[in-house]
Amino acid sequence: LAQTVLISGCSSGIGLELAVQLAHDSRQRYQVVATMRDLGKKEMLEAAAGEALGQTLTVAQLDVCSDESVAQCLSCIRGGEVDVLVNNAGVGLVGPLEGLDLATMQNVFDTNFFGAVRLVKAVLPGMKRRRQGHIVVVSSVMGLQGVVFNDIYAASKFALEGFFESLAIQLLQFNIFISLVEPGPVATEFEGKLLEQVSTAEFPGTDPDTLHYFQDLYLPTSRELFRSVGQSPQDVAQVIAKVISSARPPLRLQTNTRYSPLTALKAADPSGSLYVRISHRLLFRWPRLLNFGLRCLACGCLHTRVWPR
Ligand code: NAD
Repeated sequence: LAQTVLISGCSSGIGLELAVQLAHDSRQRYQVVATMRDLGKKEMLEAAAGEALGQTLTVAQLDVCSDESVAQCLSCIRGGEVDVLVNNAGVGLVGPLEGLDLATMQNVFDTNFFGAVRLVKAVLPGMKRRRQGHIVVVSSVMGLQGVVFNDIYAASKFALEGFFESLAIQLLQFNIFISLVEPGPVATEFEGKLLEQVSTAEFPGTDPDTLHYFQDLYLPTSRELFRSVGQSPQDVAQVIAKVISSARPPLRLQTNTRYSPLTALKAADPSGSLYVRISHRLLFRWPRLLNFGLRCLACGCLHTRVWPR
């Protein structure tokens, strides 16, 4: 019998790709409920789904920030039973903290963190009753370590990591697995939306030095990082599809080996200083050497010795 997979945020990016890949599974193992907040944006998904539409893929409305929307969506699923839940919907936020208002920050937590909590609360009783289930979370490498000018976004992903790691312990007792998938930069609308936000934002109350660091150092460095080590949403979806089909899914999985030299710094020095100092140097001292720096870190070559410890 096919497993029911509910995915949030399927109008674009990773969610769309994952929904389509699972719906086209050659062994037809999945019935995909591909959800999105605004059904007016379903065209791209429907076109990509092709013949799977109405067969192994159905499209449904779901706003992760609304209790009513979640209840309505689950009531349309046969038996209300979800075997695999993929918490994918998310929003980004970059910029100097002083120039961001609290309501915008709270919206990031409402979507990225409480959106996932809301969905989990809704599907968990059924999974527990059936003594089976898999909850997949699209976290980020920013759920593992902070990134400059991404303070709030990273905090929302850290919150997910803490929440789901805690829950994983209890849920093992119910044969329910949790997997936190941690992509590095991915070329989706996500980055475009962020750049659009910052191009019109004025960040009132931010001092000129901070604004300069953000606009003239961080933004070009971030673009370069997306260009040089960015993954495609198809690649990330493939990793998630493999996690979903796994008999013993991992709790954590990074999707991008080209980014892993940076995440390895935290594991190499639990005090945290090494990661913070090297990130600082990459941004404030050698922004144009980012690619070179990542390669040095990856191979552990002599150049790394001149870096701060
Ligand atoms: P995306 O912007 O294409 O997709 C995000 C989706 O979430 C969109 O379809 C959006 O409409 C939806 N969404 C936002 N608020 C919602 C709400 N209230 N209810 C339902 N849906 C909502 O970007 P993406 O890169 O595909 O992002 C998917 C996930 O991957 C996010 O959780 C993001 O944080 C994470 N991620 C992205 C990157 C990256 O570089 N793009 C890196 C690591 C992690």
